[in-house]
Amino acid sequence: MKHREVSALSAIEISGLRKSFGALEVLRGIDLSVDSGEVVCVIGPSGSGKSTLLRCVNLLEVPTGGTIRVGGVEVTDPDCDIDGVRRRIGMVFQQFNLFGHLRVRENLTISQRRVLRRSRAEAQRIAAANLERVGLADKADAYPAQLSGGQQQRVAIARALAMDPQLMLFDEPTSALDPELVGEVLAVMRGLAADGMTMLVVTHEMAFAREVASRVVFMDGGVIVESGEPAQVFGAPRERRTAEFLHRVL
Ligand code: ADP
Ligand code: MG
Repeated sequence: MKHREVSALSAIEISGLRKSFGALEVLRGIDLSVDSGEVVCVIGPSGSGKSTLLRCVNLLEVPTGGTIRVGGVEVTDPDCDIDGVRRRIGMVFQQFNLFGHLRVRENLTISQRRVLRRSRAEAQRIAAANLERVGLADKADAYPAQLSGGQQQRVAIARALAMDPQLMLFDEPTSALDPELVGEVLAVMRGLAADGMTMLVVTHEMAFAREVASRVVFMDGGVIVESGEPAQVFGAPRERRTAEFLHRVL
């Protein structure tokens, strides 16, 4: 596969990952690795642990057990420089989480300035380049509330990209959008995938997963039930639970 030839380096290696909230075990032993340049789409019913899995990768949730390596660094090691690791991971949520009181341009420059210590001029240049990349070069002076949901989500993606992430995590990035705005966000994500960005994407957009993913992972009840190439998982699922889920959503 094209992506694998670029680099065999593991971008994410998850081994035996467990996460409980009190008595509720939400992740029950997840093994998953994502190679550099791969796009892995995670599908599965609500409550199956997809968001928790993503949030464990950048330690928004602290795992109860197992190990996670990001770019070879074990983030579950208590001595790990987690801020350094987080800096290299872009995350895009269902809710766009833009700073409403800041213009689009400042949304893109603030973390570059504060976290990466870039000069104002460089941060502005990189902001402009990434707004261009998501097709919003003309919206730099707008406030988030003046934009459509699709535009806001594209700004959120541009903001993450401005930090030069080594990988991008997407948690249902189009689920909060009106149907007619979904396509423009998926188009940006397709472009990123084509550029070789490493992406771990939780999504309900089955057509997107089928077309763009190097691999599809089906989760249910806190475990990976099945994973494989999209054509196999969608066309000939091995597990009954996968088939039942696909039957419900397709
Ligand atoms: P998904 O993203 O697949 O819908 P989640 O990872 O959000 O699933 O949630 C999996 C389960 O964990 C759900 O039962 C949810 O209620 C529970 N859960 C998620 N976050 C928390 C939390 N902070 N505290 C308690 N329970 C949580
Ligand atoms: Mg979720």
